[in-house]
Amino acid sequence: MTEKLESTNPATGDVVGVHAVDDATSVAAVVARARHAAGWWAGGTFAGRKHVLDQWRGVLARRMGQLADVVHQETGKPHADAQLEIGLALEHLAWAASHAPTVLGRRRVRPGLLMANQSASVEYLPLGVVGVIGPWNYPVFTPMGSIAYALAAGNAVVFKPSELTTGVGVWLADSLSEVLPEQALLQTVVGGGETGAALCRAGVDKIAFTGSTATGKKVMAACAETLTPVVIEAGGKDPLLVDEDADVVAAADAATWGAFSNAGQTCTGVERVYVHERVHDRFVEELVRRARDVHAGTDADAQYGPMTLPTQTDVVRRHVDDALSRGARAVLGGPDVAADRFVQPTVLLDVPPESTAITEETFGPTVTVTKVRDMDEAVRLANGTGYGLGSAVFSKARGPELARRLRSGMTAVNGVITFVGIPALPFGGVGASGFGRVHGADGLREFTFAKAVARQRMKPVLTLTSFDRTAGADASFATLVTALHGRATQLARRPLDPGDRS
Ligand code: NDP
Repeated sequence: MTEKLESTNPATGDVVGVHAVDDATSVAAVVARARHAAGWWAGGTFAGRKHVLDQWRGVLARRMGQLADVVHQETGKPHADAQLEIGLALEHLAWAASHAPTVLGRRRVRPGLLMANQSASVEYLPLGVVGVIGPWNYPVFTPMGSIAYALAAGNAVVFKPSELTTGVGVWLADSLSEVLPEQALLQTVVGGGETGAALCRAGVDKIAFTGSTATGKKVMAACAETLTPVVIEAGGKDPLLVDEDADVVAAADAATWGAFSNAGQTCTGVERVYVHERVHDRFVEELVRRARDVHAGTDADAQYGPMTLPTQTDVVRRHVDDALSRGARAVLGGPDVAADRFVQPTVLLDVPPESTAITEETFGPTVTVTKVRDMDEAVRLANGTGYGLGSAVFSKARGPELARRLRSGMTAVNGVITFVGIPALPFGGVGASGFGRVHGADGLREFTFAKAVARQRMKPVLTLTSFDRTAGADASFATLVTALHGRATQLARRPLDPGDRS
């Protein structure tokens, strides 16, 4: 008998959908159908693909309310937040479809003097079938960061949504098949970790994984068996820096949103704040004042909903308990607020650096605030975890400079998480936050392979790659190489100025 998966509303526990689970055999059949669609899709033109993706975008936009309902039911997040993530996903879908030709299309490159008889070109060709494994926290926006770019680059996609948000995944695939019923361009496979693992082993051409660092390692290990390439978008422990000249009110507003929206279940959510000592007290006062007005619930005024994954409440409580037992102070909230699925905001001060609230991803509505002497200390502490996903800086004079020194894939200056709404910007992490990029030109190229072609336009002046090569040609080659590169050796003898990047 086929195993069934029930998807539930985390706020009420009500069952909102029942889905048949895919085992390794059915995953293989889905991938085989995708393979067929991939051949057809890759054989088309950029314009043809844009036409289909634009039609799909129209459907998604017109039925945004319906999709937001499914997101709301399966995650518990407010309807308006669900709408926000769908709207942003549509921005990316539009960008990917319209920029694919310029980013991926064939372009000529200079062959260089030695190979002047050649004409050289490069283009980026689709990989074939891309497997996308997604999380539950932004069940539309996050997987669409891979799905939209993989499709626009000419691939077919098999999507394994989190078992908590299966209904959203099924809805997305159904909506594309309304536009293109005859081709299985986007299909969903249903199930938990085993289904994800089966997808990794099903002979797909790439896996785009978004989820925790721990699962990312398992995905990589499974993909290593078949040398299937992976993009790993994993967790974060994002810092926000507040400089002495910052707009403190704006910084506190951003920290409040960054830490507590979506119940803190945001990979690029603000988990740590480092504030210059001159503005620290003012910042904390403003943050606490704002955070007091924020609450979790199902009432119309609630700014966020329940913890989508029930066990996440235990993680929050563990991190808060650990910080308090090491001497931290809760100026708002504390362990008692993590009593049920609705976890209220917690603001922690004086948290020792070795506390799990500083070192591990909490993924809940808590934030630590640490006073620093200067921004050098802030940068050092911010870079002190193994994670490196996003970050934020509030500073009037030094924003871009500090941003560059933060070891994270993305930084918002005088804002928070703003980079996700700019489709041209790549998204991804370093270190324990993963590697590879979605979004932007890098995100399109991620789902392709570079195809290089060198075409002989005329006979070479010097025949070098033939056993008919003459001693004269060898001598001319040596003279030419010395003329081209000999001077570089002399220049390199000059001591290098480390600041000189020219
Ligand atoms: P998980 O790592 O638990 O799961 C992610 C996905 O992997 C789910 O679909 C899950 O299925 C699946 N999965 C689980 N085990 C395996 C396996 N062995 N092989 C293949 N797939 C498997 O993450 P969450 O869903 O809990 O999401 C939260 C995490 O995602 C956080 O750490 C967060 O920071 C991160 N995240 C990162 C983002 C980024 O872009 N960097 C964006 C959003 C979230 P199932 O759920 O059904 O078990």
